[in-house]
Amino acid sequence: MGKFKKMMEHSYLVNEMKIKILSGHLTALDKKVVKQMLNKKMESGRVKKTDYFIKDIGGGKYEITQRKMDAGIGIGARKVLRNYKSKIQIKESTLLERIDYYEVASKLLRDYGLKSNIKMGTGKNFGEYVPETDTITLRPSYPSVKEFLMTVLHEIGHALDAKRLGVKKYIKKYVQAGTMANYQGLDPHDDNKWEEKAERFARKEVKKYLNKRF
Ligand SMILES: [Zn+2]
Repeated sequence: MGKFKKMMEHSYLVNEMKIKILSGHLTALDKKVVKQMLNKKMESGRVKKTDYFIKDIGGGKYEITQRKMDAGIGIGARKVLRNYKSKIQIKESTLLERIDYYEVASKLLRDYGLKSNIKMGTGKNFGEYVPETDTITLRPSYPSVKEFLMTVLHEIGHALDAKRLGVKKYIKKYVQAGTMANYQGLDPHDDNKWEEKAERFARKEVKKYLNKRF
C-alpha cells in the first residue's frame, strides 16, 4: 500500500519552461558564453582571453566568431591572432516538468533549515501555518507554479519567524498585531504586520525559484 498511497496523496502541477537549445560545433564553455551573451543581447564580449562576436543571420541562426591569441608553430614562433568562425542554430523548446507539491515544499523547507510538517489539506485558504504544531497546510492544487511557490514561501516566512522568536512569543505578537489592526478598523489577518512580513519574504525569495527545475 505504502508507495501507491503516498503517490495518491501528492498532487502534481505541470510546469512549462522555455529553454534554449544550441546546436553547432562549439565547446561546452563556448555554448555557455554564447547563451549568456544572447540573453543579455550582447554582440561582443571577452571571456578568458577570447573575444566573441555574435551575428544574427536570421531564422534562429547565428554566426559566432572567436578571436584569440594562439602559439605559433615551431621554435621561437610568435603568438598569432586567429579567428575561428562557426555557425550555430538556436531553437526555443518547451520543457514540461511535473511538479510534486509535497516534494517541492519539502525541498524548500530544507533550503531554509526548517523541519516543519507538511499536510495536504482541502481548505479554502491558499496555505496555512500552525505554529503550535509547526505544520504547513497546502491545497491539493494551485493555478500556477508561481502561486504555489509564493504560498509555500509565505508559510515558510511564518515558520522562520516562529522559530526565531519562539512559538509562544510569536503567537502572542501575532495576536497583538491582529488586535491592533482590528482596533484601527483594518482586517486582523490581511493587515497584520506578520502577514505583510511573510508576504514580503515570499515575494523576495520566489525570484530564486522561478524558472528553476526542481
Ligand atoms: Zn500568512
